[in-house]
Amino acid sequence: MPILSAPPEDGAATKRGSFLRARSANARIAFAVSIAAVVAALLLRQALSPVIGPSATFLLLVPSVLLGAALGGMWPGLIATTFGIAACAALGWHSPGAGGFVEMALFAMLGVGTSLVGERLFRADAAARAVNESILQREALLQSILDTVPDAMVVIDAAGVIRSFSAAAERLFKRRAAEAIGHNISCLMPTSYGRAHDSYIERYLLSGEKRIIGQGRVIVGERSDGSTFPMELAVGEVRAGASHYFTGFVRDLTERQATQARLQELQSELVHISRLTAMGELASALAHELNQPLSAIANYLRGAARLLESPTPDVDRLRDPIAKATAQAIRAGDVIRRLREFVATGENERRIESLSKLIEESLALALVGVQSSDVRVRTVRGYVGDLVFADKVQIQQVLLNLIRNAIEAMEGGLRRELTISTHEGESGGAIVRVSDTGPGIGPTLAEHLFEPFMTTKKTGMGVGLSICRTIIDAHGGRIWIEETPGGGATFAFSIPPGAPDEA
Ligand code: ADP
Repeated sequence: MPILSAPPEDGAATKRGSFLRARSANARIAFAVSIAAVVAALLLRQALSPVIGPSATFLLLVPSVLLGAALGGMWPGLIATTFGIAACAALGWHSPGAGGFVEMALFAMLGVGTSLVGERLFRADAAARAVNESILQREALLQSILDTVPDAMVVIDAAGVIRSFSAAAERLFKRRAAEAIGHNISCLMPTSYGRAHDSYIERYLLSGEKRIIGQGRVIVGERSDGSTFPMELAVGEVRAGASHYFTGFVRDLTERQATQARLQELQSELVHISRLTAMGELASALAHELNQPLSAIANYLRGAARLLESPTPDVDRLRDPIAKATAQAIRAGDVIRRLREFVATGENERRIESLSKLIEESLALALVGVQSSDVRVRTVRGYVGDLVFADKVQIQQVLLNLIRNAIEAMEGGLRRELTISTHEGESGGAIVRVSDTGPGIGPTLAEHLFEPFMTTKKTGMGVGLSICRTIIDAHGGRIWIEETPGGGATFAFSIPPGAPDEA
């Protein structure tokens, strides 16, 4: 049942009930005060009788009617009016003759009018109090829910400025609400995402195109100490009059770390086994396919060598085995090329993708299940167009592999900074760089880095980078390592622009 739903009884009846309760409590006081005020006015009239005339009596009674109507609405006002008229009539404190009746009638009309206006004001005031009370109740209820709900909640306005920051958000981002409220939402994200965020809001407000609203998304968050963590974000939209707000519910994915880590372990074991099996199969298929041309080449060359042993070798006869050996070598090359094409293009599904989103998701995935809370992540967005023509899963696999390698390389280091930047490629397209502050790559290793089975890790297989190269090759790009100023390793790869009609 929704906690904030209306109470089961009829809303109007409840309001009436509370109005009557409030009224009966105040009414007794109002009646007593208005009668006391009439008595006081009469005593004052008695005291002033030598200096004022009889017609001033009703003037002195006016404040008691106003007081009664203001405190208790219609009835205390009418009581004060009636009591005042009755007392004046009984004591003969009115002008003589017809003038006295006119005075009384005018006072009665004034008394009734004032009482009716008083009643309206009294009711309006009571209704406003009731509404206020119910708003306060709801606000308290909502606040208690927000304080207890485990997900962090952040509300921002259309300019991206934080308006509300829940208790869970304080814990998650290690930031007090007072420090966050009034600042741009970008302070909760790594630099470039933060900067891009304002443009996301602007684009949505201009185009109305929902890219994240109503859907969950895994992105990277940044704590006040600069450390990063993967988080799941669900965004809702609130329009209140001319104002526009966005509510974000954030779930920390590192909390699922233990389970995720175990899953990851199992998954990597599986991948390991399946890779081994796949490679075993591949190796035997290759051996089988290549065995024939290779033994044919050996036979032809052996025959050619025998011909050369003769003191007068017949060059014309030599041509045939050499031509045949060449043909077989080309066939062997074809087998390898076909195999590479198969591996590279097997499940290649290229589409127009947002490069920043690919990076954002890969980063979040790479951080899940890794003791990465003290890795500082910096992203720099230099590729303005942002769109690339690529197979999302494959490029994510490349990014995931490069990021994981970088994080592993920095393990135990004092400075653990990961930078992912995008740049414009020379002939269009994009270049992505993944840099770390780990020990870097020695020149000997660098030469063979992208070859299969090249690893320095105890449990490594050394196929990650070779798979990366195959994928990038299949995209028509290139992958390479670069000098890294200040130490560490930088891997870069390019994704060429897609065919113009596809783009
Ligand atoms: P694996 O990670 O299974 O060893 P890879 O092909 O991904 O296989 O990596 C091959 C080798 O390249 C690693 O064993 C490591 O020695 C080196 N390497 C990769 N990335 C980095 C990096 N960022 N810093 C230092 N060395 C790296």
